[in-house]
Amino acid sequence: MTEDKDTKKDEQEDKPIGARFEEDQPYVMPGIRRFQFFTNVNDRALTKNLNRAAMLGIASMLAIDVGKAVVNKNPQTIYCYECRACYGTQDKCPVGIAFQAELVVSARVADYNRFLRNGGLKCIRCGNCQSFCVQYLNLPQIFGTMQLQTMEALREGKIPKSMVKKAFEKGLINQAFIDEVAEFLEMP
Ligand code: SF4
Ligand code: SF4
Repeated sequence: MTEDKDTKKDEQEDKPIGARFEEDQPYVMPGIRRFQFFTNVNDRALTKNLNRAAMLGIASMLAIDVGKAVVNKNPQTIYCYECRACYGTQDKCPVGIAFQAELVVSARVADYNRFLRNGGLKCIRCGNCQSFCVQYLNLPQIFGTMQLQTMEALREGKIPKSMVKKAFEKGLINQAFIDEVAEFLEMP
C-alpha cells in the first residue's frame, strides 16, 4: 500500500505543472462553473427566479413601450429600432434636422419637450429622411401626428413656456405653427 502511494507520488512529480493526470479526463473550459450557474436553472431555484423576474421585467417594459405608442396614436413608432440610420439624411433635410430618431422616440412616448428641442415643429414633412430608415417608417406621418399633438399640448398648457420660448428663439418653429406659437408666448 505504502509502495503504491510512493509510485503514484513519483509519477505525479514527473508531470509538468498544470498537466492532466488522467488522459481520459474531459477537458473543462475555465470559468465553466460560472457559465453553468447561469444555465442550469433547474438545479438552482434562485437563478430560476431571477431569470423569471428578468423575463417579466423585459416583457413589462415591452408592453409599456407598445402600449404608449398605441395610446399616443403613433403605433408605427413601435417598429423603430433606434438604430439611427436616419441620421444619414444630413443635408438632405431641407430644414437641417439632424436627429430624426429623437423625433420618433419622442413621438412614441409623447415627450413634447424632446420633440421641440430636436426641431420637431420645424419639420416640413418632405419625406427625404424616409428612404434612410431601415424600417421604411412613414416618418413624415409620424412627425405630422406628433406636431398636432404638440400644438394641442401647448394649447392645454402642458408644455413649459420657457421651453417653447427657447425653441422659438432658436428658429425651431416652422411657418405653419409660428403665428400660434408667437401668440401663445405673448399671453400673460
Ligand atoms: S420629413 Fe422632416 S425631418 Fe425628414 S427630411 Fe423632411 S423636413 Fe427633415
Ligand atoms: S432609421 Fe428608422 S428604425 Fe432606425 S432610428 Fe431612424 S426611424 Fe428608427
